[in-house]
Amino acid sequence: MIEIEIPGRYSFALEHLLLDVNGTVAVDGVIIDGVKQRLKELSQKLNIYLITANTQNNADYLQKELSIEPHIISPGQEATQKLSMTNLLGKEKCVAIGNGANDVLMLKQSAIGICIIGKEGASAEAVQHSDIVVYDVNNALDLLLYRKRLIATLRK
Ligand SMILES: [Mg+2]
Repeated sequence: MIEIEIPGRYSFALEHLLLDVNGTVAVDGVIIDGVKQRLKELSQKLNIYLITANTQNNADYLQKELSIEPHIISPGQEATQKLSMTNLLGKEKCVAIGNGANDVLMLKQSAIGICIIGKEGASAEAVQHSDIVVYDVNNALDLLLYRKRLIATLRK
């Protein structure tokens, strides 16, 4: 669990990290450098979920590299499936990271939604419905590892 108190806002007790895969932790199907080590560190405090429609057909590779079994959603209604997972886990305990239009509901409903621009860019709607926007997935994961950064950005 990661507990965060944001002055002027809320206290969070985060238990789950929901990650979009393609465009977020991987580009062209390949995991971005630096992600593996950060996820290993974060896995001591958060349950990590990789959510993918497996368009790059890389679920086995992801599992082998990250030692996390990807949660594969079916094509179509992807935003709703990602939202269902958020609600099932308890949205107030979730931090979500994503970049696409199908991440919008998950980013919006999670206690903290972090949009990354990355090499694929981000859906304008995803940007609009996130709490924080960063340019790179490692910066997003570092917000959870170095929480003073997150607090500095969100405090009012
Ligand atoms: Mg994506």
